[in-house]
Amino acid sequence: MPSDVLLSVRDLRIAFDGVEAVRGLSFDVRPREALAIVGESGAGKSLTARALLGMLPRGATTSGAIEPDLSAHRGRRISLVPQDALSALSPVHPVGDQLAAAVRSVAGVSRKEARARAVAALDRVGIPDAARTARAYPHEYSGGMRQRAVIAMATVNEPDVVVADEPTTALDEERRDQVLRVLAEQREAVGAALVLVTHDMDVVRDHADRVLVMYAGRLTELGPADEVLGRPRAPYTAGLLASLPQHAPPGRRLPTLRGTPPPPAALPPGCAFAPRCPLAADPCRTADPEPQQVEGRLVACHRWQELPYPATELFLAQKEEQQPA
Ligand code: SF4
Repeated sequence: MPSDVLLSVRDLRIAFDGVEAVRGLSFDVRPREALAIVGESGAGKSLTARALLGMLPRGATTSGAIEPDLSAHRGRRISLVPQDALSALSPVHPVGDQLAAAVRSVAGVSRKEARARAVAALDRVGIPDAARTARAYPHEYSGGMRQRAVIAMATVNEPDVVVADEPTTALDEERRDQVLRVLAEQREAVGAALVLVTHDMDVVRDHADRVLVMYAGRLTELGPADEVLGRPRAPYTAGLLASLPQHAPPGRRLPTLRGTPPPPAALPPGCAFAPRCPLAADPCRTADPEPQQVEGRLVACHRWQELPYPATELFLAQKEEQQPA
């Protein structure tokens, strides 16, 4: 594996009862980078992240390769910041005890040393009066403090990769930014890469080096976040961006992607995005596009060259056509 690749995912497929929810996904995670995985609900982004951790739901079957497989070293080489911080913390033990236990589970250190590292980790993420607060239980922490404690837990053993699965969905915008800043500081301090699952393009813009856009279990676009967001090449990425409120043309309604993603058991033939795509034409309805190299990124679209820039009008026109004012 090249030295600029920390994790290599090849042709990952995740199925339930024979129905694939992730359909042949390949990408790399590079050392120390922040890679965002974005897409609407059901795109397979959380499943992909959980596959890296070896934490797929019961009943999932997988094929393909994830190398190296870090799931046997969960908590040490790869760790999770989940969406719901409460689920990551036991309600019956003080937070500091839980961090100390995480330290002792991988490092042969004394209880006293583990305790000291736990308190230091809480202090680093900005938990006030960490020595005292470490003795409190999760329910005594505010939502933002709990999320920071979980970040402390995920980074205390200096992993290679931190996976954050929608870590700020339950938080307001101000706390969201705080938590993501703390996460960035901590992972930079320990030299970890971040795989950040989100549906929030603002989070991608502010916190990711590269972005993997997923649709219906497949790669749609993958490349540097500023380039992909600055000028998307895949219609789906363009549609997601056009739907952001800041892109509403003055005095006109907000463009939106019409419809919803297809369920994995009822994918249309050809490109899964075709029923919603304003650019869909002949080849789209029969052949699923494979990712191809386009200007330093990967794009899976037969007609990426036809995508105008900016594409806002394309999606606006589509909506006005569908719902005349
Ligand atoms: S392949 Fe066709 S339907 Fe799919 S995103 Fe590209 S233009 Fe749209």
